[in-house]
Amino acid sequence: MSSETCTSAAIGAIGVAASGSRQRRAVITRLRRWVDTGVDDDAGPRAANDERIDWLRAIPFIAMHLACVSVAWVGVSAIALWTAAALYVLRMFAITAFYHRYFSHRTFNTSRGVQFAFALIGASCVQRGPLWWAAHHRNHHRHADTAFDPHSPTLRGFLWSHAGWFLTRAAFRTDWARVPDFAKYPELRWLDRYDTVVPVVLAILVYAFGAWLGASMPQLATNGAQMLVWGFFVSTVALFHATVTINSLAHRVGTRRFETADDSRNNAWLALITFGEGWHNNHHFFPGTVRQGFRWWEVDLTWYLLRLLALIGLVRDLKPIPAWVAAKARG
Ligand SMILES: [Zn+2]
Ligand SMILES: [Zn+2]
Repeated sequence: MSSETCTSAAIGAIGVAASGSRQRRAVITRLRRWVDTGVDDDAGPRAANDERIDWLRAIPFIAMHLACVSVAWVGVSAIALWTAAALYVLRMFAITAFYHRYFSHRTFNTSRGVQFAFALIGASCVQRGPLWWAAHHRNHHRHADTAFDPHSPTLRGFLWSHAGWFLTRAAFRTDWARVPDFAKYPELRWLDRYDTVVPVVLAILVYAFGAWLGASMPQLATNGAQMLVWGFFVSTVALFHATVTINSLAHRVGTRRFETADDSRNNAWLALITFGEGWHNNHHFFPGTVRQGFRWWEVDLTWYLLRLLALIGLVRDLKPIPAWVAAKARG
């Protein structure tokens, strides 16, 4: 073998080794992002337009769905079902009232403490941090049902608008330019950066609650594993899919009271499972009010609960429906 051949073979081997170690580093970086979304993004700004699903990063999300299947082994009890329902109600309210109507649209005011408390509850929903959520949602309103909408069912179909977009490299990023008003709070930035911490803590607490009940009140027929599966996994997966029906179904199924530039619909069934968010055509027509049911019969649980919180002084300055909007809603 000539010395030239030897040299080029050696260079080739070094090249293969270097590209192997680059790939290993890239995989490790992506795994680190499971727990720290602030890890340097080696794809840089290109990630903003990368619409491939990041399967590696999506593994915990997929595992959460598979964990629900274990209801077949852990059984069920009344207390486990009640816990799942209670956590659904509390966390759906945190998503609709705070992630959506407060952080995304600023339709009322509150103190920094209450803001953080509900951001924390919202963060337990596995729908990422409040800044991430608000930034994506503000982009949705700016570009609804156009090519720049992160999740338009009209353009991209049901599966994409429901969950596909949520798992893409582009969607994992927070668009900081959209949320300068809340990005100034370090405690909110922390929740965004470490967005798996709160769900993991909740899962541990739910398991401990079940284990404690199992040991101290055996007549309730529950245990740690059963409570974890129902109270955390089933409740969280149901909550996720109910929430994202507003991206998928509420732009396809229902009635249109207002001729908005997008395809938003009003849908009473979706309004029931999402505590008022199903009045989505109302909301796209006038997102600046805290209320989404524009008529008295348009049930909006989030609005009723926010009025209760206002009565006890936890929130204030609820923005009402302007008279001209109410008149238009009456037809
Ligand atoms: Zn909105
Ligand atoms: Zn919409």
